[in-house]
Amino acid sequence: MTDIIIIGAGTAGLSAAIYALRAGKSVLLFEQLSYGGQIVNTPEIENYPGIKNISGFDFATGLYEQAEALGAKVEYAQVTSIEDGDLKKVTAGGKTYETKAIILATGAKNRPLGLEKETELIGSGISYCATCDGAFYKNRPVAVNGGGNTALEDALFLSNYCSKVYLIHRRDEFRGEVKLVNRLKEKENVEFILNATVTALLGDDMLTGIEVTDKISGDKKTVTVDGLFIAIGQIPENAAFAPLITLDPAGYITAGEDCKTNVKGIFVAGDCRTKTVRQLTTAAADGAVAALAACAYIG
Ligand code: NAP
Repeated sequence: MTDIIIIGAGTAGLSAAIYALRAGKSVLLFEQLSYGGQIVNTPEIENYPGIKNISGFDFATGLYEQAEALGAKVEYAQVTSIEDGDLKKVTAGGKTYETKAIILATGAKNRPLGLEKETELIGSGISYCATCDGAFYKNRPVAVNGGGNTALEDALFLSNYCSKVYLIHRRDEFRGEVKLVNRLKEKENVEFILNATVTALLGDDMLTGIEVTDKISGDKKTVTVDGLFIAIGQIPENAAFAPLITLDPAGYITAGEDCKTNVKGIFVAGDCRTKTVRQLTTAAADGAVAALAACAYIG
């Protein structure tokens, strides 16, 4: 029996683990893929207070090692259900575990464009992770789709390797930071295609290009690229908790800044929570808030 089970070993979950362990509680983390969550896909972090510049992978590894050194146990298994009770139950990998409190920190997964052949072409021209796959496209033309910080950082990263980077966004204003947009404008091999959407993926076994449609004129054109990096945001994956935990219409777990869900003793932290600002800083902050609330609940 563990004091606190944390579901998800991203920034929020690992931050929660650090706070709970330092408060003297035992902690078990469940992670279905690998530690770190979304941030491992970010080439450069420049907006985490106190750290001038770090890769997402190094940041996540530092967090993981910090939690592990404090005594966190990590199980790599998918959680399929949770149950309420005096002792709560978490089922993962076919086993059921008892705990006094639960912190849900499942983050969110990459949103697909939903185009024909998108899934088949993953690894053959389609990628959701510039850090992981960018090096395959050295000296080759690529496109990035999206207008948030992820797309902007991906485009910057790829512009260092690729012969050409097309940045395609559905509006002419960016959701991401102005500083990043300005840095991209200075790059000679970056071309903005704005008010436009990717409407078809070309090529059979390998991506050879994309069809881009201008949202204002309706004109379609072919852009020849070897790679398309899709960075159009995330969607939460909270369905396994839905019978017990209240979700908002978009599927995020409903809770305020106190990170308390509708069930006593079950808390939520990070990108899977209803919130307006999803940043590393807010994920780490949620982790601290949820862990201290869980410690207070346990007593
Ligand atoms: P995001 O901020 O939600 O941006 C998603 C972008 O994709 C938006 O520009 C959106 O367009 C566009 N989009 C959404 N659905 C689309 C569709 N179906 N077709 C075409 N375009 C679509 O996602 P994100 O960039 O992944 O960032 C997620 C969160 O992580 C943000 O809060 C971001 O600031 C944060 N982040 C932080 C760091 C860091 O701290 N260093 C790094 C990366 C990301 P509209 O703008 O028109 O809605």
